[in-house]
This record gives sequence, C-alpha cells and structure tokens, in this order.
Amino acid sequence: MRMSNLLMPTLREVPAEAEITSHKLMLRAAMIRRLSAGIYSYLPLGIKTLQKVEKIVREEMDKAGAQELLMPALLPAEAYQASGRWEVFGPSMFKMKDRYDRDFCLGPTHEELFTQTVIDNVKSYKEYPMTLYQIQTKYRDEGRPRFGVMRSREFVMKDAYSFDLNDEGLNESYKKMYDAYCRIFTRLGLDFTIVDADTGAMGGSGSQEFMVKSPVGEDGIAYCDDCGYAANYEKAECIPQEKPSVEGELDIEKLHTPSAHTIEELVAFMNAEAYNFAKTIIYKADDKYIAAMVRGDREINEVKLKNLVGCIDDLELAEPFKVRELTNAEVGFAGPIGLDIPVYADKEVAMMKNFIVGANETDMHYKNVNINKDFTPEVVADIRVIEEGDTCPKCGKPIKTAQGIEVGHIFKLGTKYSDALGLKYLDEDGRSKTVTMGCYGIGVTRCLAAAIEQNNDENGIIWPVSISPYQVVVIPVNNKLEEQTALAEKIYDELRTNGVDALLDDRNERAGVKFKDSELIGIPVRIVVGKKCGEGIVEYKERRAENSVEKTVDDAVNDVIEYINSNI
Ligand code: ATP
Ligand code: MG
Repeated sequence: MRMSNLLMPTLREVPAEAEITSHKLMLRAAMIRRLSAGIYSYLPLGIKTLQKVEKIVREEMDKAGAQELLMPALLPAEAYQASGRWEVFGPSMFKMKDRYDRDFCLGPTHEELFTQTVIDNVKSYKEYPMTLYQIQTKYRDEGRPRFGVMRSREFVMKDAYSFDLNDEGLNESYKKMYDAYCRIFTRLGLDFTIVDADTGAMGGSGSQEFMVKSPVGEDGIAYCDDCGYAANYEKAECIPQEKPSVEGELDIEKLHTPSAHTIEELVAFMNAEAYNFAKTIIYKADDKYIAAMVRGDREINEVKLKNLVGCIDDLELAEPFKVRELTNAEVGFAGPIGLDIPVYADKEVAMMKNFIVGANETDMHYKNVNINKDFTPEVVADIRVIEEGDTCPKCGKPIKTAQGIEVGHIFKLGTKYSDALGLKYLDEDGRSKTVTMGCYGIGVTRCLAAAIEQNNDENGIIWPVSISPYQVVVIPVNNKLEEQTALAEKIYDELRTNGVDALLDDRNERAGVKFKDSELIGIPVRIVVGKKCGEGIVEYKERRAENSVEKTVDDAVNDVIEYINSNI
C-alpha cells in the first residue's frame, strides 16, 4: 500500500476521551473513531488488523473441525423468549419492534439461534458431533461501555457451539476448542492465562476463561505459581482464615458509637482491628431484600452471593430509605440481630468469636457477639472476594492475584438450551435423548486492544508480526530525490513480489513525521532509504530494536522475509 493513498489520520495529541493505553493508541494510530458511546468505526489500519485476527481465528477453528456459518444479527424474539433470556438479559439487550409490532433484538450471543438451526436442519444422530461457528457483530447495551473496543456496545465475536450425543462427546469437543484457543491466542502474540470460571446463572458443568493479565483488565484472577491453580474471582474458592480473638464466649454488650459509620471510623473509635468486626450489607435481590455478612477486612463477592441467592438481576445495594426501614437506623448501623430478612454469612464470620456488629439502631453497635448464641444466619457460605496471600485451595500455598482482560471463554453448557428449545435425537434403538452442548466465544475486537496493552512503548504500538496491519514500511528520507524514491519503489516491489505485506511511505512529509508515524502505527520492520542509497545501502530497523543497522538492499529484503516468516 502506498501511504499517499492511505486514509491514516494519525493524531499527535492524546485524545481526551481515552483513559487506557490501547484506546489512546488505537485512536492516535488511526485505527478507530468513536461514533457514540461504545460504538466505533474502523479506519483502514483498524480493519486490516481486525481481518488478520479473524483470519487466524478462522484457520484454527477450521483446523479443529468446526464449520463456519453466518446468522443474522437482527433476531426475532421467540427463541430468546423460549430460553428465558429475553428477560434475563434485561437492559443489556437492544430490543425493538418492527412495523407490525413484533419484537426483535440485536443478538448479544447466539446459543438459541444455533440450537434452533440444528433442530431445523439436523435429522439423524449420525450427523453428530458437530461444531458450528461464526464471526459476527454482537450487540450489548453495556452499563458502562469504556476503554474503546475493550468494552463496547457493538463488537465482533467469534462464537462457536458444539453439539454432542453425550457428555463424553462434549468433553472431547470442549478439549478441541480449548486446544484451538491456545493456538489462536499464541498466534495472536498474546501472553495469556487460562482460569476456571464460574458457570453462574448459565448452569453447565465447566467453564474456563482465557485471560490476558493487565492492570486495566476488569476481571480479578487468583493464581498459584506453585501448583498452577488459576480461577477468576467468582470461581476462586476462599479458604477461611482464622484471626486472633478473645477466648470463650462473652456476654453481648451494646455500645454507643456516635457517628462511626465505616469500618475505618469504627476501628479508630473502638481501638480494635478491622477483623474484629463483621459488616452487614443489605442488598436488593430482584424484588426481595437480603443481608450479607463478611469480616470487616473483607469484601463481598456479589457474583458468588447472587448465585447463592439465585436471583435473576444483578444484586444492587438496597436504597438508603429501605435500609432505614429495615434496620430502623441510619445507614451504617445494620447488623444481623433482630433483622427481619435472610442473613447470608461468609464462612469466616461463622468462625469468629466475640465480634462487633451494627445494632440496627443509629449510633449503636454490639460487641461480644457470637453466632448461634446471639443470632443464627440463614445461610453460611463462601461469599467473599479472594485476596493476595489467601490459601491456595488446591495446594495450600499463598495465592497471588492479578487483573485480567477476558479475551475468550469456553463453556460446557450441557442441556440447558437443548432442553429449553427441544433439541433431541433418536438413538440407534429409537429412544429419544437430548443433545448436549458447549459454547465458545472469542472477543475478536477486544483482542486488538489486549494485544496493544501487552505490546507498546512510549512511541506507539509494537504489533506482533502475525496481526500487524502491514509487516514492513519502506521510507525514502527525501521524496524529492529521484534516486531515493526509485530505490524505495524497487524494494517495495520486491517485498510485495515475495508476499510481504508492505507499506511505501511516498507521502510528501518530512522524514521525522514518517518515522514517528511508522512507530505509532506499530509496523514491525522499517527500511529507510537515505544518504547511502547510491551505494546500495539502506537502514534496517525492527520496531523493538534500539537502533537501526545498515544493510545492503538484498540483505535487508532477505532479512525482512526471514524475520516475518520466523515470527508469524
Ligand atoms: P465480560 O465479562 O467482559 O462482560 P462476558 O463474559 O459477558 O464478558 P461472553 O458472553 O463470554 O462475555 O462473550 C465472549 C467474549 O466476547 C468475551 O470473552 C469477550 O472477549 C468478548 N466480549 C464480551 N462483551 C464484550 C464487549 N462489551 N466488548 C467487547 N468484547 C466483549
Ligand atoms: Mg464470559
């Protein structure tokens, strides 16, 4: 591609709308432009990269025996109503009516439609196992679209669905996708971690997420370097840790704690440790209210709690007026004693002795509280967030934690959708059985952002060769010197003849601008045709290298080809 023909409006300034590196760089490197919150256009460099990612995904899915098809994005409501997800998706589903007042949505994910397709088109048990996939635009009206294409409202997903006669078949199909995902993310140049994930409201028997560790990731992951255990926060099992407390069971006492609302204020006021307190938080769970208790130095994991409560909508903190009504006190003094709603206590709370809780009375707390003596929770379970230094549930060594970007997710669904929609088969003896399913997603557009988060420096993107929009850029230093432009053209032609995806910077720009742009847009190799061009010498520089090296034209061309082949 001649850069004089390329729509590449790079930006020198960091756009105010962007908070994280990948988002800033995708805007500055002229890959994307924002149209509305969470909705982006892809400029030529953006779409070229996206297509490279898609190609790798497609090749590996095909290699794993999956078949590509394409579903519509505009979908009638019926299948989602049958599975119950018309309601479950709540406000994150884009819904609309057609001119005849019929309900439609923009597909957020396609389990129902693939299930229906198999019902309609597969006639014999002999056709299984089967894995179908598509690479398609998805729509989710995210509560907080942000970070560019990392969490957007319109994004490209590769979604695959496996259909098997039984659980052994599902395990095999799942393993094939697991292996394909490992190959895909390796080829995309991502350094990834595979974590056990929560199967939550989706049901199913197993699930794993492919995470790219990054401080900007929105998912918490807990891992153990000793035994290889890795799980996301929702799934990571917390082993209760005991903390020192006063021996025996003392008598409960009511204390005046004027205007101490938070744990920090109470710790200071009562000269105690945060772990001597149990905090009680009141949540709205669909249309009822519940209380959850964790130790004062812990946080509640709302997904674990939601799964336990079994509500459909995400938990929400109870409104202040409701807290006042339920506790007869200002916000900040809730406690389990005398509370008229179900209390879910964390396992650690059940181990505590003589602890401090809110008294359901403004400015009052109880101390020396003991479980079963002073109150009995309805449920005791693991409802807290795992922390660095917690005990590894597999080997007992200390756990480490990190933030991760979820780039892929594989899931043994079982019969949830085949039951809901009636996907059955007749076995060889004519008995009716239910097909068992798996689903497998990759956030194709999110992968671009994740790759940039892991591969950049102060000058811009450093693309892995496999997904770089172009593999090499040839830059004549001075466009007015015929000698330089002619040699640059020759090198450019030669590279292209050899199948290299090359750029020729034939723009009438200063050399400094061309260099800056080539670094910003992250092209892996740069060949500069300058002063020594008369001697057949050019400057060769890999994007990651500190300095450039002088080479003959032939060497430079051969080295580019070799570099690309060994890095693709
Ligand atoms: P998240 O937890 O990040 O919201 P999810 O678990 O809801 O994602 P899945 O339904 O598992 O997402 O979708 C499969 C993949 O699609 C995810 O692993 C992720 O890479 C990608 N994805 C999901 N939501 C978005 C989004 N809003 N923007 C970009 N990519 C997304
Ligand atoms: Mg997921």
